[in-house]
Amino acid sequence: MLVLDQSDRRGLFYYQIFAALRTEVNAHAHAPTTVYSESLDLSRFGGEAYEESFRQFLETKYRDRPIGVVVAVGTAALELVLRWRSRLWADVPVVFALVEETDFARLRPPSMATGGITSTKFADAIKAARAIVPHLTAVALVGEDWGRQLVFRNWKDEVAAVGTDVRVIEILGRPMKEVLERVAALPENSAIVYSGLYSDGSGNYQPPAEALRLVAAKANRPIVVASETFIEPGGVGGFVLLPTQIGMDAARRALRILDGEAPENLPASVIDAVQPVFNWQQMQHWGVSESSLPPGSRIELREPSFLEKYRWRSVVLVAALLFQATLISFLLHERHMRRMAEVEARNRLSQLAHVNRQATAGELSSSIAHELNQPLGSILTNAETAELMLGAAKPDLGEVREIISDIKRDDLRASEVIRRMRSLLKRAPFETKEIDLNQIVREAFDFLGLQASARNVALYLQTSPQVPRVRGDPVQLQQVIINLVVNSMDAMAKMPYGRTIIGRTEVNGDASAVISISDSGPGIPQDRLNDVFDPFFTTKEQGMGIGLSIARTIVLAHSGQIWAENQPGGGAVFHLSLPLAA
Ligand code: ADP
Repeated sequence: MLVLDQSDRRGLFYYQIFAALRTEVNAHAHAPTTVYSESLDLSRFGGEAYEESFRQFLETKYRDRPIGVVVAVGTAALELVLRWRSRLWADVPVVFALVEETDFARLRPPSMATGGITSTKFADAIKAARAIVPHLTAVALVGEDWGRQLVFRNWKDEVAAVGTDVRVIEILGRPMKEVLERVAALPENSAIVYSGLYSDGSGNYQPPAEALRLVAAKANRPIVVASETFIEPGGVGGFVLLPTQIGMDAARRALRILDGEAPENLPASVIDAVQPVFNWQQMQHWGVSESSLPPGSRIELREPSFLEKYRWRSVVLVAALLFQATLISFLLHERHMRRMAEVEARNRLSQLAHVNRQATAGELSSSIAHELNQPLGSILTNAETAELMLGAAKPDLGEVREIISDIKRDDLRASEVIRRMRSLLKRAPFETKEIDLNQIVREAFDFLGLQASARNVALYLQTSPQVPRVRGDPVQLQQVIINLVVNSMDAMAKMPYGRTIIGRTEVNGDASAVISISDSGPGIPQDRLNDVFDPFFTTKEQGMGIGLSIARTIVLAHSGQIWAENQPGGGAVFHLSLPLAA
């Protein structure tokens, strides 16, 4: 197989035709097939002498090489082959490729020749230009002079016949310098149609794709192209020739001929080698939307979307976010459950504390009764005295008035005892507020005063000069203090004398406040110092063993600590530390 390219095969377009042809031959040849190839390079060289010398060169070169099929790529190549046939390859079938419909009609190749006919139309270039520039009024046609154009020269008649609505500015066969100046200054609502530049007009030649890069760098309008190989260097797109389709079709025909089929049984036909293809990056640059493109358009050089580009990273990120969201909702649920449990625990604590208070009240009832008896007794005596005085002939009203005010005072004292009793027995929900610990301890000690004197206990209180402010529930904290003091009184019950309880409050830096209740009792066995806080631990006959356990629960609910020690000089001391309010 001898492949004759009309142009330089190192150019991308002809290279892709050849590469597709060779791939197809390699894959489907039924017998070992040698592919020779020659470039006629007619876009740069020409003339009778050149052509004749080329023919002689081929004659000499292939004298001893039998050729089974000649593949002519391009109309110009086909013309030469047909002209040379009788002298070079008289009976050798010819397969042609890249021959335009109009050229095929003009050349009317003999039956020995078959091939794929392509159909590129200037009308298609205008259609593409209209898709890209909505109100198109002009196109600038940039390329070689009509005479030097190999593929798109058949556009010449079409260009001449274009209607008046679109003006065609021909920039053909001009030096590169001029081309670059003119494409930079095109009017609004215009587009460039690029058909390929092979020379710069001053004796320098370059591949047309490279020339397109220069044009695209300067152009002020989008560039419509008609070859797939012009998409990447800067074309916005258009109805483009697909070199791979052209090469494949030529190879298939050539292989069938080598397999023995007669070329006349393989009639030439128009092949599907034109497709609308567009350059995504250029579309972005010129603000062309996908929806305005002709139906069936293929988009090339699309930049991968964020998801496509960072696929795995995105997957990992989404997974991490999902995991995090799950974790957060799980933790929120946990927190909710914990809150519920805390509320529940506090309710229980309040209930338990209430029971404990009732028990304490029971324990204190004798002294309370005594405390009430006193004012009630003196009220009665005073009332009787007043009655007697009022029975006299001349009652001393001044004295009666004094007696009545004494009655009022005693009544108030009795009410106060009842009020305190009530507040102790009050069933209150756990609620915290900022409180002065000194005041809380003082009130508790006041309440316990009478009980202490009834039990021969000296009760002292030393409050800190600095006000210990904490957040807490006053009723519950007082209950802790009452529990501790009552325990101390119990512990000292069997002592003949010297029963003393000292309460102290201190402020520890700016971190905590400490209350300590010490007594002069027997103390706690060293190995029991921790056990005393356990529920139901008691050494008393009538004891329930819940007083200290409730005290510890209350203190822990206040984020505090409680612990017991024995004093060096004898007696137990309980410490209770609470964080200071911020
Ligand atoms: P209860 O008073 O019903 O026994 P508590 O929990 O209040 O229950 O006390 C548990 C035990 O701790 C008491 O039985 C006693 O043995 C011991 N205890 C508490 N306070 C003191 C103290 N100040 N001195 C000596 N022992 C004490």
